[in-house]
Amino acid sequence: MKAAVLEAFHAPLVVRQIADPELTPEGVILKVEAVGVCRSDWHAWVGEWGEKAVPPLPHVLGHEISGTVVETGSQIRNFKPGDRVIVPFSQGDGSCPYCIAGHQNVCEHRQMPGFTYKGGFAEYTHIPHADGNLIHLPDGVEFVEASAMGCRFMTAFHGVTQRGKVGPGEWVAVYGAGGVGLSAIQIATAMGANVIAVDISDDKLDFAKQVGAVETVNSTRHKPSQAIRELTGGGAHVSIDALGIQETAVNAVKSLRKQGRHVQIGMTSYENGGMVELPLNLIVENEIQIAGSFGMPVPEFPAMLQMVAKRRLEPGKLVTKTISLEELGDAFQDMSNFSGVGVTVVNQF
Ligand SMILES: [Zn+2]
Ligand SMILES: [Zn+2]
Repeated sequence: MKAAVLEAFHAPLVVRQIADPELTPEGVILKVEAVGVCRSDWHAWVGEWGEKAVPPLPHVLGHEISGTVVETGSQIRNFKPGDRVIVPFSQGDGSCPYCIAGHQNVCEHRQMPGFTYKGGFAEYTHIPHADGNLIHLPDGVEFVEASAMGCRFMTAFHGVTQRGKVGPGEWVAVYGAGGVGLSAIQIATAMGANVIAVDISDDKLDFAKQVGAVETVNSTRHKPSQAIRELTGGGAHVSIDALGIQETAVNAVKSLRKQGRHVQIGMTSYENGGMVELPLNLIVENEIQIAGSFGMPVPEFPAMLQMVAKRRLEPGKLVTKTISLEELGDAFQDMSNFSGVGVTVVNQF
């Protein structure tokens, strides 16, 4: 099959033939129909997350996959060839205590396509433990808009609805108007919240308004936490850090009113090495709650998919570019420059 192969970190991906994936009894082979290009792919591609983030090279990245089932293992009961599916990037083994409780996203033996095994920048991919990990795609939802639903969109949905428990009329401050941030803005807006988007790019903030933000703050011109406290008359009920750098995490927490809830979705950068400092006394005195949020477990998908099928949520609106496997190199380059607005999806193989 054809794939865009990672042969060396930070070097152009090589589009070439590689061996087809092998079917396991509890797995399925998917024809990849669409696969998003995510900041996490970029982190792995430049080698920022180290050699341990991916199997030994050569490797195939790509974890925002939607596709068609072409072959099923002997133990598969829920899927058959021809089924259209979404692949959540955070996958469980189906047997640990977390999976049994319906929290596949925090499985003890978590698998992630494109990271722990060969992913979706290819014509085909193999999904392990597929009965527990794949989601049927409703009729009327296209593959391109479904691709980001396996990563950035579902991550934002879980963060907004379950971890942040965003309610109608609440003020929500979203730091970072990239894929996760834009998704969170659209979802929180659909929940009836008033969303303020914070970014350093006016282009990204303009796009944030198109997907629902009622206010925007450019943090190169304004002190964002102060601007948000003024806009909201005391602070946001919920803050979401979609980036994960020191500055955005602290500013997000400082944007909250008393008893506010902070949701951390962005992972730290290489420089931060997993650590950022937070204003602990403020968190104590103001009774701030802090919740981490990672991916989304399978049981939360039906609610999100119903909203998409009925067009109350429109992940397709976040997709600004569709490209071929050969154009992935340019897409990564754009990400190095932090240029481009919205989400890029590969749909030509
Ligand atoms: Zn992703
Ligand atoms: Zn598990």
